[in-house]
Amino acid sequence: MAGTLYLVPTPIGNLGDISRRAAETFARVDFIAAEDTRVTLKLLNHLELKKPLMSYYRHNTGEAGQQVLSRLLSGESCALCTDAGTPAISDPGEDLVALCAANDVPVVSIPGPCALVTALAVSGLPTARFVFEGFLPMNRKNRRARLETLAGEERTMLFYEAPHKLTATLSDLSAAFGAERRVSLCRELTKLHEEVIRTTLGQAAERYKAEPPRGEFVLVVEGAPFWAEEDFTLEDGLERVHILLEQGLSRKDAVRQAAKELGLSRNELYAAALEG
Ligand code: SAM
Repeated sequence: MAGTLYLVPTPIGNLGDISRRAAETFARVDFIAAEDTRVTLKLLNHLELKKPLMSYYRHNTGEAGQQVLSRLLSGESCALCTDAGTPAISDPGEDLVALCAANDVPVVSIPGPCALVTALAVSGLPTARFVFEGFLPMNRKNRRARLETLAGEERTMLFYEAPHKLTATLSDLSAAFGAERRVSLCRELTKLHEEVIRTTLGQAAERYKAEPPRGEFVLVVEGAPFWAEEDFTLEDGLERVHILLEQGLSRKDAVRQAAKELGLSRNELYAAALEG
């Protein structure tokens, strides 16, 4: 019988975030496939664990993936981890999960630290509907083309970015979505210098032009306004409330959001929603 592949998330900065289940999984498996074995060795030392390690990183996923698969098929169990956060999310792992799925090897995903979810939750921007864009293309032309496709995106958007590219990315985001669009820059999450800067794209681009940023960032960008500006009636408001209720918002939150989006009185819309 095939062994199991466990996807084990690791801290994104604060070692205290390693879960008991993650540590127990490392202790139980036959071997660990790690993005950088030196980084994982430090974590294992912290957990006082010893375990055979092999390297599974972006440039060897083909060959190393086959090695992991054959060991799994022979009955060994494996924990896959990356340097920080959840494997397979803008990190190696996606291909290995697909390979296991294609070969009927069980895969268990253990919940844990993930920069995008941590940032979304603290952003202060709408969380009910969001889209994760990962890293934008490196090439400026491709990056702008990608951003163009997102011009009308109404959901909150999340981007990963390396600090040395942040200034250029903020200016591209501002050009694509408008300088007034709100953004939360979530920096060094879970670390000593954790910071959440809630501002606009224009102000953020200006701020970092003068002072290049340090540390790791997730950018959480407000979605496009739901509808173009025009005069909306209470009936339009009720329709929007209905859609938001179906999306899982509470009545109070649905009314608050619909009133804000359509420029209606929250009290009047709430009263109408209670009647309807
Ligand atoms: N798989 C990881 C996860 O689940 O979060 C993401 C890995 S991706 C290669 C690294 C990117 O995640 C960084 O460039 C940054 O955008 C974001 N990131 C990771 N740790 C972070 C932190 N402590 N604070 C803010 N962003 C972080």
